[in-house]
Amino acid sequence: MADNYDIVIAGGGPVGVALALALRGGAHRVALLEARSPGTGGGGDDARMIALSHGSRLILERLNAWQSLSDVTPIEHIAVSQQQRFGRVEISAAEAQVPALGYVVSYVALQRALAAALAGSGVEVMTGCVAREVEGGLNSATVIVDCGSVTRQLDARLIAIADGGDRLHLAHVEKRDYRQSALVCDVASEEPHQNRAFERFTRDGPLALLPTHRGWSLVWTARPARVGELAALDDVGFCTELRATFGAALGAFRVLGKRQVFPLVLRHARQSAAPRTVLIGNAAQTLHPVAGQGFNLGLRDAWELALAARDAHDPGNAVMLNAYFSQRRFDRNATILFTDTLIRLFSNDIPLLDGLRGVALAALSGIPPAKNFLVRRMLFGVHG
Ligand SMILES: Cc1cc2nc3c(=O)[nH]c(=O)nc-3n(C[C@H](O)[C@H](O)[C@H](O)COP(=O)(O)OP(=O)(O)OC[C@H]3O[C@@H](n4cnc5c(N)ncnc54)[C@H](O)[C@@H]3O)c2cc1C
Repeated sequence: MADNYDIVIAGGGPVGVALALALRGGAHRVALLEARSPGTGGGGDDARMIALSHGSRLILERLNAWQSLSDVTPIEHIAVSQQQRFGRVEISAAEAQVPALGYVVSYVALQRALAAALAGSGVEVMTGCVAREVEGGLNSATVIVDCGSVTRQLDARLIAIADGGDRLHLAHVEKRDYRQSALVCDVASEEPHQNRAFERFTRDGPLALLPTHRGWSLVWTARPARVGELAALDDVGFCTELRATFGAALGAFRVLGKRQVFPLVLRHARQSAAPRTVLIGNAAQTLHPVAGQGFNLGLRDAWELALAARDAHDPGNAVMLNAYFSQRRFDRNATILFTDTLIRLFSNDIPLLDGLRGVALAALSGIPPAKNFLVRRMLFGVHG
């Protein structure tokens, strides 16, 4: 026999949990399914750090998750440059008249803070439960769930798929393989970070250093073979390569943690897989981490979906979902385009583009409206 809910969320990553939190206290009966078992902890040993925008901070505050976030490091200054080529842009919080340009937190700490806010919220959380199959219908959608050896069927007026694009391949997905991987690792440097972040474009891919409570979070993007070589180096060899690519501005580097590799693809799916279903977060779009937009965009998906569904008499009906899809279209498409263009323009070795890249950075640096546009986008997304 099926269990009945108003809304089922398949995937308890940061976006799925944010949606559950934004729906709490409403009239709807909500269930959240998460494949990981309770003992594995939020995010497990995921080494990635997430740069949250100012807009995300405002949403997380409303979800009561910001208050318990640990080890938050504000970004007060960002320098964007190219390796061995001209063009540089510097952005400061003071110039933008905000307390910080962004905030760096670990994926694990973010998951923990969201999970803590969810406790006692009235949302039924089922961990160790894998959504195996989803089917849309006229009046309700159905999800088949494997919880250990027990298989259950849940019916809901709306099923929100927030599985990170991992397993429930429902909708048509457009993919572009960037032929790049990201190597993520915590490092320390001789020079303190002073709340600065660096983005350095190389012909292989961008290298970012984000300030953290321990030093820096390095996100080094390059061809998969090169990333494989970097991952296999000993710590001394790795730090030598890092200094050769980043430059000497921060002095010598020291490795603080293990190196983790993430393959990078652009995936964007149709927002709806079937009637009464919706894809949000990485399930809807998986972006290159170059501009730190993925979670920030997914959080806006969750927030706007909750606003549309919370007071709807029948969440998931076609009118409500179509209004949500058109409300999200511009932000989603513009963010995908912005991220993808950065990679196309800056991560290649076409000599003709060398000049264009320098001009683009010089324009951003020298033309205040262009720079303001970039800053507002970083702070708030497309509505900035
Ligand atoms: C190296 C790197 C750096 C990044 N840096 C930034 C950054 O600075 N800023 C930023 O905004 N974004 C960044 N991102 C992107 C960000 O990590 C993602 O956008 C974000 O994690 C998406 O959250 P999500 O909840 O949609 O998906 P996920 O984080 O992938 O979570 C999906 C969840 O669903 C669960 N699940 C999967 N399948 C099922 C199933 N069938 N049934 C039940 N549960 C299931 C999984 O166990 C998981 O908990 C970065 C990404 C990478 C790779």
